[in-house]
Amino acid sequence: MSLWGKYQNDFHFAPLKKDIEVDVLIIGGGICGLSTLYYLKDHPSVCLVESQSIGSGVSKNTTGKLTYLQSKIYTDLEKNINYEIASSYLKSQLYAISLIKKIIANESLACDLEKVTSYLHADKKKDLKVLAQEKKFLEENGLVVHENESAIWVEDTYVFNPIKYLNGLKEILKEKEIYEHTQVVDVQYKNNQYVCSTFNGQKILANQVIFACHYPFFLFPFCLPLYSHIEKSYLIAYQTDVNKRTSGITISNPGYSYRYYKDGKKIYKICLASSHHAAIKQNDCQNFSKVKEKFSIPEDKIVSKWSNVDIITDDKLPFIGEIKNHCYLATGFNTWGMTNGLLAAKIISDAILGKKNQYAFLFQTKRFNFYRMKSFMINTFGSVYNYIVSHFHKDWYPNTLYFEKKKNTLVAIYVDESGRKHKVIPKCPHMKCGLVFNEVEKTWDCPCHSSRFDLDGNCMKGPSTKSITYKG
Ligand SMILES: Cc1cc2nc3c(=O)[nH]c(=O)nc-3n(C[C@H](O)[C@H](O)[C@H](O)COP(=O)(O)OP(=O)(O)OC[C@H]3O[C@@H](n4cnc5c(N)ncnc54)[C@H](O)[C@@H]3O)c2cc1C
Repeated sequence: MSLWGKYQNDFHFAPLKKDIEVDVLIIGGGICGLSTLYYLKDHPSVCLVESQSIGSGVSKNTTGKLTYLQSKIYTDLEKNINYEIASSYLKSQLYAISLIKKIIANESLACDLEKVTSYLHADKKKDLKVLAQEKKFLEENGLVVHENESAIWVEDTYVFNPIKYLNGLKEILKEKEIYEHTQVVDVQYKNNQYVCSTFNGQKILANQVIFACHYPFFLFPFCLPLYSHIEKSYLIAYQTDVNKRTSGITISNPGYSYRYYKDGKKIYKICLASSHHAAIKQNDCQNFSKVKEKFSIPEDKIVSKWSNVDIITDDKLPFIGEIKNHCYLATGFNTWGMTNGLLAAKIISDAILGKKNQYAFLFQTKRFNFYRMKSFMINTFGSVYNYIVSHFHKDWYPNTLYFEKKKNTLVAIYVDESGRKHKVIPKCPHMKCGLVFNEVEKTWDCPCHSSRFDLDGNCMKGPSTKSITYKG
């Protein structure tokens, strides 16, 4: 469980039990979905459904930094698209930080928001040139940047507790129509309305639908696998006496990232390292060890260890906006969804309320740039490659697992410490990618599109909408 998991409160919303009709349906109760509902709170007919509980997705496993110092993003955007887009992206991140600060202040949300110094480190000699470019870019765009021989830093960034933020929003929105444990499994457009079916068989009729579910469970019309890949990272939180209000990240990838967190008298440091393309063969145990080594973390001070995944888009810009007929998508936050999730909430709610948003153009779902076309070819190949190699991942599995062929179906059997057998079909129902066993967190993970299943095969995270339990 992540450090933030222990802050989830006991206040829950009931599941949907009957068919309903609304104007706007929000699918997903993470930072993006719940913040969207906040901006639409005065709308007369809006409802949010969440397949598990509010804040149980990627938002629970984040680092929780609110910063515009995002590794070498501006150098990349300037090189791959152009200077104006890089500059607009920087402004959008500053805008997003101001949005979340405003919500927290206006609603007096107790979510441990603190101003911190953010560092960008060049831990390799070859990164010094990029470090200088990032500094020049930030200064040209009016920001005050400090430097030493291997890092630059800024003073106006923040950290917070994402689950306390979501708990606060839950309280404010408790009179709104929110249903937990309500998973949408199908959406059809019929007679100018969306007919959304839930796992338990209810229908939600909606004029407008917002997909804020991290990875959309449909393939068409958007085909996200062709424009993105999944990145997996490993995090350790430990208790410390060092009261340094800082956060930081490196230019190189895989590099490292860290932040400070203070909860009352307790001080924690959250450390992240060993990020990798989820489809590349890696060993979870070794990756956690690398984080521990890199930050010299004392074993007895460790509070929690967890892994997390996010969607990395080819051109490093999220997809936010309409995909067709009042159907909106917010995804591809490139590990910066605390800011981009807020931005998506504002851009989409503005579109629904008929307001213009100055950043909507930047994240359009149908945007075109040369870099995207180049990556499209690479990703098409990558998706096919991932699909094929994911079926040969058996050598990733540890000794506690064995396989049996039952009526032409491959069944994976995990034997737990009590000797109980957990049987699953290790193939993702979403697009049939082979699943990888995560031996540290004891889950089945999809290396292609980030679905996740527990030991008994229950679906914990989409895009899959089905379980992989073997019932034979
Ligand atoms: C290692 C790591 C560190 C990060 N650190 C930072 C950071 O410091 N700062 C930052 O800005 N960003 C960070 N991010 C990124 C950020 O955490 C994510 O981009 C963000 O949390 C995504 O929010 P979300 O609301 O889109 O998704 P989620 O939080 O996953 O919410 C989506 C919700 O939709 C629900 N859902 C899914 N399918 C359905 C369905 N069919 N029906 C109903 N509900 C459904 C899920 O259960 C889930 O609760 C990090 C990411 C990673 C991987």
